Amino acid sequence: SGGLLAYADSHSDDNKSIIEQSPKEPQKKKVVVLGTGWAGTSFLKDLDLKSYDVQVVSPRNYFAFTPLLPSVTCGTVEARSIVEPVRNIIKKRSGEIQFWEAECLKIDPANKKVICCSNVEENAARNDKFSLEYDYLVIAVGAQVNTFNTPGVFEHCHFLKEIEDAQRIRRTVIDCFEKAVLPGMTEEERKTNLHFVIVGGGPTGVEFAADLHDFVHEDLVKIYPLVKDLVKITVIQSGDHILNMFDKRISSFAEQKFQRDGIEVLTGCRVIRVSDKLINVKMKSTGEDISIPHGIVVWSTGLGTRPLLRDFMQQIGQGNRRILATDEWLRVEGCEDVYALGDCATIDQRKIMEDISSIFKAADKDDSGFLTIEEFQDVVEDIIIRYPQVELYLKSKHFSEVTDLLKDSEGNDRDAVTIEDFELALSHVDSKMKSLPATAQVAAQQGAYLSRCFNIKEKGKHDPEGPLRFRGPGRHEFRPFRYKHFVQFVALGGEQVAAELPGDRVSMGRSTQWLWYSVYARRRTTLLNAGYAVGEVKTIQDLAGVKIQ
Ligand code: FAD
Ligand code: MG
Ligand code: MG
Ligand code: MG
Ligand code: MG
Repeated sequence: SGGLLAYADSHSDDNKSIIEQSPKEPQKKKVVVLGTGWAGTSFLKDLDLKSYDVQVVSPRNYFAFTPLLPSVTCGTVEARSIVEPVRNIIKKRSGEIQFWEAECLKIDPANKKVICCSNVEENAARNDKFSLEYDYLVIAVGAQVNTFNTPGVFEHCHFLKEIEDAQRIRRTVIDCFEKAVLPGMTEEERKTNLHFVIVGGGPTGVEFAADLHDFVHEDLVKIYPLVKDLVKITVIQSGDHILNMFDKRISSFAEQKFQRDGIEVLTGCRVIRVSDKLINVKMKSTGEDISIPHGIVVWSTGLGTRPLLRDFMQQIGQGNRRILATDEWLRVEGCEDVYALGDCATIDQRKIMEDISSIFKAADKDDSGFLTIEEFQDVVEDIIIRYPQVELYLKSKHFSEVTDLLKDSEGNDRDAVTIEDFELALSHVDSKMKSLPATAQVAAQQGAYLSRCFNIKEKGKHDPEGPLRFRGPGRHEFRPFRYKHFVQFVALGGEQVAAELPGDRVSMGRSTQWLWYSVYARRRTTLLNAGYAVGEVKTIQDLAGVKIQ
């Protein structure tokens, strides 16, 4: 079966030429990795350092365990317990990785180099720029917040992306209380100072609101009893529900919990301006503008592309896209030897309908104009690997066999498949295409996937984890990246946790907390096994860095 999985892919020949390079070539290939977040560190964890010369560039010399970042804002978790120095991570690898604490300012794909600067913030006049050449570039710089160009957001809102952000929010929240208890304040002024507004009803905004609620009601009201009844927390969401990317059950569970806690949820409204004392929103239903006094606004909505990548996208013909696109092998489209993963990129998935006639031709080996049932089964098994939407479609229809796709309108089986039957059978499959969420899980799995491809590519090494490599001539060398969803949590405060599990299952309530601890404990243990130092770890609570009362 020739070329079945390669036909749709313009890079496949280039890929082959990389692979066929002589393994005896003395010079190791130079890999430059940008970023030390989930994607970057996961890529570095298993990369074969005997095959590659690796240099890592990141303005932060640590990895941050972001799922616990909202808890840092309220002191439930210490900042130092969720960071991991990059130097520890690379020390644990046998072989050498060079780390440069610097920001990449420019990617120059024509000359295969990146330009970096080590003191972007401090003193731009000093000449601290340097450039690095690469054979392969791995871009894992994450995303920045998206303000949607809303006036005042940069000047007056807090973000929650970095450790420093979380620490700053914590200080500001306490300052709001200090101001609210000063003498000579009117009740209105006290209320304004104690109005905490969160823009964005996604998981980060919701978890922060929940943590803040617990922090206020468990700790701060004891320290500032005079103003305890003046505190208010509001979540502003442009859609109709908070957590709308999750299962409906989770979203209503969270809304009910917030209602009981007295956290106000303003849905269907868009922020139009923020100043130091007011936030202006427009109600979508009525068109009404309202202005809300606030003590602090935490902006936690939307992901934006970093200027570094905007410029790079211009250079490679992706200038009119919103986010950098790769193919399913994580190769940047329109650019050789550059890979991108995690929050900074998105996989531009192929529609099966665009390729349908070439798929049919390749499967119809005798050119008879129809496929036998066996040929049909074979080809669908192949395209399931190439086009993940096929499997999702089969699952959504509760089909147990691929031939279930072939029933005609009366529910009868066919015995031969024409191109028309073939198109009909697959015509609804593309509706199941779904872009991957911007999560740590996706970023980490992409990093692991890419390092496996790199390890096999350079040494023709055996893949211990199974058939990543396609057999058969003319095929694409690797299987495309495939995401496996395990579990996603949202901590809702008061020991309530909601979890979205595989197969449309959800788990909510106090007991889910234990699932949460065990998964995070396991993740921390995975980090430990991978040679990450996480300090003294005695109990599961230590592992998660969380106190259990
Ligand atoms: P990041 O982890 O953001 O890493 C980007 C890296 O690039 C950083 O090291 C950064 O310093 C570096 N960098 C930036 N600019 C440059 C440059 N110019 N040159 C070189 N390096 C650069 N996901 C979950 O799955 N579960 C959760 O519970 C969860 N909770 C979250 C809570 C919060 C508060 C936040 C902010 C995110 C959360 N996420 C969660 C999402 C998750 O953190 C991201 O999806 C993940 O970090 C993406 O990984 P990444 O490597 O692409 O980017
Ligand atoms: Mg990264
Ligand atoms: Mg990170
Ligand atoms: Mg992505
Ligand atoms: Mg035939």
